Formats: sequence, C-alpha cells, structure tokens
Amino acid sequence: SSFDQMGIREDLLRGIYAYGFEKPSAIQQRAVMPIITGRDAIAQAQSGTGKTSMIALAVCQMIDTATREVQALILSPTRELAAQTEKVILAVGDFMNVQAHACIGGKSIGEDIRKLEHGVHVVSGTPGRVYDMIKRRTLRTRAIKLLILDESDEMLSRGFKDQIYDVYRYLPPDLQVVLVSATLPHEILEMTNKFMTDPVRILV
Ligand code: AMP
Repeated sequence: SSFDQMGIREDLLRGIYAYGFEKPSAIQQRAVMPIITGRDAIAQAQSGTGKTSMIALAVCQMIDTATREVQALILSPTRELAAQTEKVILAVGDFMNVQAHACIGGKSIGEDIRKLEHGVHVVSGTPGRVYDMIKRRTLRTRAIKLLILDESDEMLSRGFKDQIYDVYRYLPPDLQVVLVSATLPHEILEMTNKFMTDPVRILV
C-alpha cells in the first residue's frame, strides 16, 4: 500500500514525501482513510507506531486554508508531545501553508494570544492551557470540526479528565472525534461513549 492510494490531497502528499516518508505505517494505512472520510475513530496504538504522523495527516487533509479559523484541536498529555505534534503538522503541511500553534503551559500567554489572534488552522496543546485559552475567548471554537485526543490513557492518569470534558463542552455539536490510546480502560470507554458516534476501532 502507498500514500498515493489513500485519497490524500496533492499538496499534502508532496509534504509527506519531502518529509522523507515512503510508505504508510500500519496505523497510517488503517486509520487515515476512515478518518479523512469523516468517521469517528478509536486507535489503540503506542508511540513508535507512526501515530503522531497519522494525526498530522488526518488533520492536514481536512483543513481549509482559505479561512484562518481553528478547525482542528489536538489534546496531548505533555508539552513535549503537543510541541512534537505541532512540528510534524507544520512539516507535512509545508506545501499547504498550514498555520499551527502549540498551546502549552510554561510558555508565555502573550505569545498564545498573539498567534491565536493572528489566526491559525490547528491548535495542539495540553488540556489545561487549551481550556484557559477557550475561557479567555482567545481560542475560538466555532469552526472546530475535528478533535483528537492523543495518548488518552496518559491524559487521564495525569489528572486531565475534567479539563478534557470542560474543553469538549465548548466544541460544536457535529464534531468528529479521534481517540488514540495505548490502553482502553473503563474511563476511556466512558469518554468514547460520550464523545463519539459509531466509531471505527483500529488495533495496531
Ligand atoms: P510516532 O509513533 O508518530 O512517534 O513515530 C515514530 C517514528 O516513526 C518517528 O520518528 C516518525 O518520524 C517515524 N515514522 C512515522 N511514520 C513513518 C512512515 N510512514 N515512514 C517512515 N517513518 C515514519
């Protein structure tokens, strides 16, 4: 299987090949197509499987760069992962001119405000800082179509459950949700029941 057969837009394909990828990893083969056709998805995958790039491809594929509104939101358990995801999105989305911003604790709020007010297509962040930006009305949620919950089990074990639900309450009702997690304990299944409609399940 190859990236060419996955229905990926041309400018994004160029970015993927320029980044140095030749063919999709197992999770990319199985998750990218259902996600880009709009399905909710539960991907049970560890880091090292290519899950970050899978997220980046799915996000870039559905961004409309003609408007400068936030259309995809990715929540991650750590600053490092949120920053890494932003980096991969900017790399594979290079030929699309995707604007992304990492909303993470420990960085200046002034920088978040400046970037978000200037307008970005994608926000990758930790739940606490993202919720803070939403409450300040600096992060506008009106145009968000896709929510990705990355390393969900890790987010719960770091105590982010309430903040994830808080963020979710601000998002539009016809939202597409993709949940990535190494394990699927009861609390994660509860979240999938609450946030998702008829999700595809992918185990790699
Ligand atoms: P991840 O699980 O997303 O953290 O990815 C693990 C490593 O695999 C990273 O160094 C990626 O750059 C690399 N990687 C992800 N997808 C591919 C691919 N399709 N081809 C080659 N390397 C990849």
